[in-house]
Amino acid sequence: MTTPDDPVRRRVLAASLAALGAAALPALAAAPLAVTPPPGGDADARTGTRLILLGTAGGPTPKALRAAPASAVVVDGAVYVVDCGNGVARQLALAGLRLGALRGVFVTHHHSDHNADYGNLLLLAWAADLRTPVDAWGPPPLKRMTRQFLRLNATDIRTRIADEGRVDPATLIRAHELRSGGEVMRDERVRVRAAVVEHPPLQPAFAYRFDTADRSIVFSGDTRPSAALVELARGADVLVHEVMYLPALEKLIASEAQAARLRQHLLDSHTTAEQVGQVATQAGVKTLVLNHFVPGGDPALTDEVWRAAVAPHFQGELVIGRDLLEL
Ligand SMILES: [Zn+2]
Ligand SMILES: [Zn+2]
Repeated sequence: MTTPDDPVRRRVLAASLAALGAAALPALAAAPLAVTPPPGGDADARTGTRLILLGTAGGPTPKALRAAPASAVVVDGAVYVVDCGNGVARQLALAGLRLGALRGVFVTHHHSDHNADYGNLLLLAWAADLRTPVDAWGPPPLKRMTRQFLRLNATDIRTRIADEGRVDPATLIRAHELRSGGEVMRDERVRVRAAVVEHPPLQPAFAYRFDTADRSIVFSGDTRPSAALVELARGADVLVHEVMYLPALEKLIASEAQAARLRQHLLDSHTTAEQVGQVATQAGVKTLVLNHFVPGGDPALTDEVWRAAVAPHFQGELVIGRDLLEL
């Protein structure tokens, strides 16, 4: 048993993060993204429930091949964002979604690949066309983070209020802290529930389930195989789940002094390709969407590699996620 202050544990965690970052390729140009402009020009006007993967790489290091974790659920034009990895506002713009249509933000946990642009998303939406309240949910200390972020940006905020006649963003942004699973919110379009998942050492970390009139979509967040997640996802139309490819990670960490311990740390807090198929099967979901790829910057890990690793363990529809994919 170690504590967060244990120097060995700190070294292992640092090495673990380095391993995830080392997965990024040095100087490889990103493959051009197939960005389909929204038909009719106004994506927000479409009815029904849409799922758009905004960023699909796991780990804190920016990568050429995939953007940082973020997804959008769009219900009758209202935008709900799950996780705010670096670049989330730009990814929303690339997806043809209006920042002013943002109604809810759901942070799964406070690793920087999931929250680095939490404040930026809200600030930039406000500087764009956000005029209606946005509710944000996540583990503590989300309220303090929100307050401090607004303070950090006080110069810009004060200037725009005076210069452009905008309302104070503090009156639009409502942060709520979650400490346990259960119903998170419900409005006229969507009901959102959460489950506490297993992503040590961060606690709590959440998975979220969205139920709308026409669809049910579950996001695992970061977790090792979790019984609570299986329960939350039971019978859902779509499960968007994190995945790691252990053989590639084993190669990356082979030279580390504590390779065995590092491997165990990854297994304690994330889900392998084999396990994600098993989780989706146990939950009985129709579609499994792979997301939060670790490593997320290795072009050798083609869709075929991921598919071959997961497919033997899940008989339903399997989607290999990519940035800006709409489902
Ligand atoms: Zn992550
Ligand atoms: Zn994490």
